[in-house]
Amino acid sequence: MSKFSLAVHGGAGTLVKGMMTPELEVQYRDALKAALDVGVDVLKNGGTAIDAVELAVVSLEDSHLFNAGKGSVFTAEGKHEMDASIMDGSNLEAGAASLLAGIKNPVSLAREIMDNSDHVFLAGDGAIEFAKLRAVEIKDDDYFFDRFRFEQWQEIKDSDTFQLDHSLKKDSKFGTVGAVACDQNGNLAAATSTGGMTNKRFGRIGDSPVIGAGTYANNKTCAVSCTGSGEFFIRGVVAYDVSCLMEYKGFSLQEAAEEVIHQRLKGINGDGGLIACDSFGNIAMPFNTEGMYRASYDNSGKESIAIYS
Ligand code: ASP
Repeated sequence: MSKFSLAVHGGAGTLVKGMMTPELEVQYRDALKAALDVGVDVLKNGGTAIDAVELAVVSLEDSHLFNAGKGSVFTAEGKHEMDASIMDGSNLEAGAASLLAGIKNPVSLAREIMDNSDHVFLAGDGAIEFAKLRAVEIKDDDYFFDRFRFEQWQEIKDSDTFQLDHSLKKDSKFGTVGAVACDQNGNLAAATSTGGMTNKRFGRIGDSPVIGAGTYANNKTCAVSCTGSGEFFIRGVVAYDVSCLMEYKGFSLQEAAEEVIHQRLKGINGDGGLIACDSFGNIAMPFNTEGMYRASYDNSGKESIAIYS
């Protein structure tokens, strides 16, 4: 029995089933597996949950398949504005950054903010200035250009619509990324990174960088990373709500995660999902969308990779 566990997600906005080709499915599965392996390696070697989630998310940010880092969606102005956060459940330290342009790995900037500033949350120019101070890698616009995502934005750019990389439309296929982990010492951590929603308004910030909404970790309860329509996740304080149900009502991880996604979030018409783990290494991954790109390595050493329900 291994004493650690890890889960990653690549967003609740999957391709509708009929649109997924076998070739694409292999690509998604490989990318999820690569991120899982990076995180599991850290944990196997006695590394910390916080290092495992950061590196797993970096791996997903570096893939063009997901809506984070390299694959970030276009805003209404045809730019990229990325958000990320990370939280260490062993000491409740957290770092978050939003409205980022040019940052190759937003999750690593969030980690820098957590480790090397007196703050939790930096945004826009201030965050970029801090990134430069800390020598966080910066890339030019070309690095973030993706033809498919550009076309996705072209289709709705003259409308008021902004959209989750989601199953409503045949081509809305990308998703936010995240990871949760429990290390060999029972410490928990969570991280989430996103390009947000296609055609989002300049300055719009979703749930992903908001501690308690898109990301939360506390050794006493759980580590959570969310994906879905961010406005609902902020209003539902979703990640913290899972923790609260465990702490104040004695729910198990699975009960709490399901109650939040299938009852409370649904109750306000929110769509999406989350991944979560507790300090026994249990994992829960509920979603109320057609699919959620996800992979896990559980506390018995069992690995699983899945897209649809
Ligand atoms: N939650 C993200 C946001 O609203 C989007 C996603 O999960 O794909 O920015």
